[in-house]
Amino acid sequence: MKRIVCFVPCLFIFLNFCLVGNAQVLDVFEDENPSLRIVCTEVDNFDKTMLDKVDNLKETLEKLQGAGLAANQVGYTEKFFVIFVSSKIEDEIRYISEASQPEKDKPLVFINPTILKETGEQIVWEGCFSLPGAVYKLSRPMTVLVEAYDIDGQKFTLEATGFWAKCICHEYDHLKGTLCKDKAIEIKKLA
Ligand SMILES: [Zn+2]
Repeated sequence: MKRIVCFVPCLFIFLNFCLVGNAQVLDVFEDENPSLRIVCTEVDNFDKTMLDKVDNLKETLEKLQGAGLAANQVGYTEKFFVIFVSSKIEDEIRYISEASQPEKDKPLVFINPTILKETGEQIVWEGCFSLPGAVYKLSRPMTVLVEAYDIDGQKFTLEATGFWAKCICHEYDHLKGTLCKDKAIEIKKLA
């Protein structure tokens, strides 16, 4: 009987582990942490270690309830970021090359992203989890065309406008060691 009592919770923990995985919420580095200034390196191996890192970044973004997060904000050195495609934002984000479209209210992973084309301009305010306590006004393109790989190593091309263009540019800059404060034309401290 004792054995059964012990087995049940162990089984539950095991099933829980299998179903939800073991993604971790990581600390986000702030301001002068050197990780924020590295140029991230291309991912050439989509193995379990890499996928675990992607899961951890997704989990961390979900916990923060933010719009996007880049790998080096949590100490990774590979070139990838995640954005959360909220259905509350009406600006367009769409695959060019696919019949399906990005799922709403889900994280979207960009591995080895390249911005192929920038069109137009918008003046925006941005905040950053690595720069708490202020928002930054800067110029971003109105529309971007981005090429990247998903977690299966499949290449996709995506066009993003307005909020999503700003969001993608913000995360893309992180991977090059650039922060939005570097490009700011105005800074507003938050109370
Ligand atoms: Zn940021």
